[in-house]
Amino acid sequence: MGNVYLTGAGPGDIELLTLKAARVIKEADVVIYDRLANPDILEMAKNGCEFVYVGKEDGKHIVPQDDINEIIYQNALKHENVVRLKGGDPFVFGRGGEEASYLFDRDIKFEIIPGITSAISGPAYAGIPVTHRGVSASFRVVTGHESPDKKVSQIPWDNFKTDDTIIFLMGLHNLDKISKKLMEIGKAHDYPVAVISKGTTKDQLVVVGTLENIVEKAKNIPTPALIVVGKVVELREQLAWFGN
Ligand code: SAH
Repeated sequence: MGNVYLTGAGPGDIELLTLKAARVIKEADVVIYDRLANPDILEMAKNGCEFVYVGKEDGKHIVPQDDINEIIYQNALKHENVVRLKGGDPFVFGRGGEEASYLFDRDIKFEIIPGITSAISGPAYAGIPVTHRGVSASFRVVTGHESPDKKVSQIPWDNFKTDDTIIFLMGLHNLDKISKKLMEIGKAHDYPVAVISKGTTKDQLVVVGTLENIVEKAKNIPTPALIVVGKVVELREQLAWFGN
């Protein structure tokens, strides 16, 4: 029985892959990968390595999660080195925990290889530090998948009244509702928001606006995209370093 490496692929820029991830990919007998993992990474694999695509789009699985768990398990029965490659970090909205616990229940050994999450590196490539002395003392990474008008919410909206940075992943389709909700809890209509699409890649696009106008401004922006809300967005005026 083999070892499964639940591996972060980083956000897009292939050079943001960790050395450890690169090593296990080079040794892999099979790589099971998502849409958000940069496919160029697969070129590092040895000859004869198998590739299994279990694509995933904005939180919606093309292959259901239960099937993915089972695919990983079956491969671990057949192969010595199994890499499960996921965009960003496997434990940041990556369902890596569910996959690891499925393997734990079946006595399969696994390792977690953290990756650079898009939640922080997307803003960094857009010139937006997620914390900044005197501006934001903390940041939250929040699912934007849940509709903000849901009656019983998992999201503590009332805690978002401060100026700390909020990063929404999987939220582009709810951008209008998220902006409205934040104004409803008392944020100013001109409060800064950025939408970052395809962050850290050559196709990166950044749109900056306010809670009031960001929906209009980000209308045609492609996925994957994340939303950054907070005064730190204004620092981009000085810190944007990566081409738009
Ligand atoms: N585990 C991943 C996140 C998975 S959830 C990570 O740590 O980055 C998928 C969401 O991540 C997308 O809907 C999008 O909001 C965000 N995302 C992933 N890659 C991105 C990128 N290159 N640019 C902008 N957003 C990205």
